[in-house]
Amino acid sequence: MKLFNTLSRQKEDFVPLEEGKVRMYVCGPTVYNYIHIGNARPMIVFDTVRRYMEYKGYEVNYVSNFTDVDDKIINKAIEEGTTAEEVSRRFIEECKKDMQALNVKPATTHPLATQEIQGMIDMISSLIEKGYAYRAQDGTVYFRTRKFKDYGKLSHKNLDDLQAGHRDIKVTGDFKEDALDFVLWKPKKEGEPYWESPWCKGRPGWHIECSVMSKKYLGDEIDIHAGGEDLIFPHHENEIAQSEAANGVEFSKYWMHNGFLNIDNKKMSKSSGNFFTVREIGEKYDLQVLRFFMLSAHYRSPLNFSEELMEAAKNGLERIVTAAEHLRHLLKNAPEDGPAKEETDLLHGAKQYTEKFEAAMDDDFNTADAVSAVFELVKYINTSVSENTAKETLNGFYGQLKQLCDVLGIIIEKEEEILDEEIEGLIQERQAARKEKNFKRADEIRDLLLEKGIILKDTREGVQWKKA
Ligand code: AMP
Ligand code: ZN
Repeated sequence: MKLFNTLSRQKEDFVPLEEGKVRMYVCGPTVYNYIHIGNARPMIVFDTVRRYMEYKGYEVNYVSNFTDVDDKIINKAIEEGTTAEEVSRRFIEECKKDMQALNVKPATTHPLATQEIQGMIDMISSLIEKGYAYRAQDGTVYFRTRKFKDYGKLSHKNLDDLQAGHRDIKVTGDFKEDALDFVLWKPKKEGEPYWESPWCKGRPGWHIECSVMSKKYLGDEIDIHAGGEDLIFPHHENEIAQSEAANGVEFSKYWMHNGFLNIDNKKMSKSSGNFFTVREIGEKYDLQVLRFFMLSAHYRSPLNFSEELMEAAKNGLERIVTAAEHLRHLLKNAPEDGPAKEETDLLHGAKQYTEKFEAAMDDDFNTADAVSAVFELVKYINTSVSENTAKETLNGFYGQLKQLCDVLGIIIEKEEEILDEEIEGLIQERQAARKEKNFKRADEIRDLLLEKGIILKDTREGVQWKKA
């Protein structure tokens, strides 16, 4: 299995630190709003990497954090007249719902930054002891960037170029020794959440969170660290500096970064209104379609989101699901007797598509080619089966198709359909809950129906519903 390592800018053979095991860390979202479809890309892509590694027999310890203390969360809390804790708790729950709808497996551990403050204080103390960090006059603790000799090795930047362009680097305080130094701990401002520390009442910088959570749940050395390409600099560069200075060993062997998702060929941007939340897309499409759309491109390529491409993904997915349905339908009345030689040969012939699939995935997780192999398998199955095909043969085809779709996280088994009466019943219960001002229950019912693909619309004539 080869993967592109941002560190070496080359495809390298994957050799785990410990045989049969993978320790993997994926930077998670900052939870101050519903996640947008750009945030969904690393979730889907690295979930697929994980699934493929598991398919290959590796035991994967997969850690992905939630950044639950940050300026954006604090600002949102002020805007809403509530606490940062309440905002982050709410959006973590919402994010988990989106992940489930995208069929992203829960991580082995989903640590929260606010629950790991002591570990951050310990790592910062150790960096100060080793001379890699210092407390400035106002209580801010900075990392002494120039002391870490390998700084820039991931982003392939050199310190002097960075220094020359230092006006572009956010200057967060006036007390730094050097413009390149970055924050490990900062003093609290009025009304902000804070923790006690040896330096001042305050909160951690963003980069130290990931270094600490990765160390705690995966150890000093890990196999893969991943995230979107915007994180290469400064976030991941700073993580390397902190972790390697503190632990004295190489932090991560491989670094993987997904390309950006654009909308209608333009950069996604909140200010210009050019962005969609996963929730919004979920009102129009089954979120399986969004997942399938993301996997139809290579993870390192930029990907353009458009209605047209989503429709194409929807049709493609439909072709696969229909083939699976057809197999299930044939299985109901299939002959029980053993398969004839021709059928065994056909089944054997289908193995070439699994081989193609694996070859694509082994080549830096080329899901675009892997999806093509699945389409070829579907075509092959469609032309190979009929009412006379033996049960054993049909099961063989079905098992093979399902196995590949499982790696991609594509569900081919449709859930039980919800009956119209059940929908009506739930809508009535929701109306009653609203009347009693039990909005929590009312929202729960709305979400439950949404999960089953039922969209509610409140109109003057009452509640209307439709299937997504
Ligand atoms: P954030 O909450 O901004 O830290 O983002 C969480 C994850 O989503 C990070 O790995 C980002 O790199 C990634 N991300 C954010 N926007 C996009 C985008 N438009 N396309 C792809 N990945 C993105
Ligand atoms: Zn991170």
